[in-house]
Amino acid sequence: MYTGRFAPSPTGPLHAGSLVAALASWLDARAHGGRWLVRIEDVDTPRCVPGAAEHILHQLATCGLESDGPVWVQSTRGDAYAQALRQLQTAGLAYPCACTRKDIAQALHSEGHTRERHSELRYPGTCRTGTGGRPARAWRLLTTTDFNKNSHTALEFIEFNAPFFSNDEWHWHDRHSGWHHQNVARQVGDFVLQRADGLWAYQLAVVVDDAAQGITDVVRGADLADNTPRQIGLQQALGLPHPRYLHTPLVLGNNGEKLSKQNGAAPLDLSNPLAALNDAAAVLGLPRWAGNDHTGPVSAAQPEHIRSALADWVSWWAARWLA
Ligand code: GLU
Repeated sequence: MYTGRFAPSPTGPLHAGSLVAALASWLDARAHGGRWLVRIEDVDTPRCVPGAAEHILHQLATCGLESDGPVWVQSTRGDAYAQALRQLQTAGLAYPCACTRKDIAQALHSEGHTRERHSELRYPGTCRTGTGGRPARAWRLLTTTDFNKNSHTALEFIEFNAPFFSNDEWHWHDRHSGWHHQNVARQVGDFVLQRADGLWAYQLAVVVDDAAQGITDVVRGADLADNTPRQIGLQQALGLPHPRYLHTPLVLGNNGEKLSKQNGAAPLDLSNPLAALNDAAAVLGLPRWAGNDHTGPVSAAQPEHIRSALADWVSWWAARWLA
């Protein structure tokens, strides 16, 4: 059964960009007659804000978006992440790393590479052959392994829109923008599964939970698309199924940058939730909802207006986004 999800990090209230992702994943689930789950991604505890999770759930409910099942909270899922890490360790696919950020920067510098990938540094693989007696700090995934253990041809995978791995490139399909590929080993390097401070990395937690919740379709903002090859590689390494992916347009701030709490996005004004939903729908190319009787904009939205608007948008979503 189609199962989608919205997985906010409780680092602050929802902003206009996160409402777009929430609405898109909800509409996609409804257009497929499926379920929609909310998951609170609070593994990066230093970035989490007390009370933000409850606030987000309240904001979603105000917009008529409620989880079809229990809301999972990642900070309660440590055992499952530890089990996944053990599986990778046993398979020889994870190794301990002793490098600090400074060590990594120095190693890249001596290789002649200083380019940062977002704020992350590509990992040059220093500890692949051991930590050289230095104490281990983090665990990383070995990314050069040929995960593609079966004999299907790339053509077959393309036909079924299934991710595949060839010539060190990890290929994946987006329902909207089509095929993408990335040489994760060269461009990102062996990425972190468990951090030096003991916290679980987003990539591991998201992959373990998407599988444990039976997520068939990930619908989220385009800013997260870059993580997808890492996630499908991890799914492959753990023998987990691959969900389908769809990345939606971003809301840009006045400075042309992605709207985020970090660059000062204003919190959503939900005094009129229908107005906020209308703005989110516009980003997705859906028409503004002006009321069933088409007499003009609905200013003071009632819950029944919100329900009608959401129901109307499902068919627009299906026409525009379901390829
Ligand atoms: N927790 C992530 C965020 O809020 C989203 C994860 C995902 O949708 O895969 O940015």
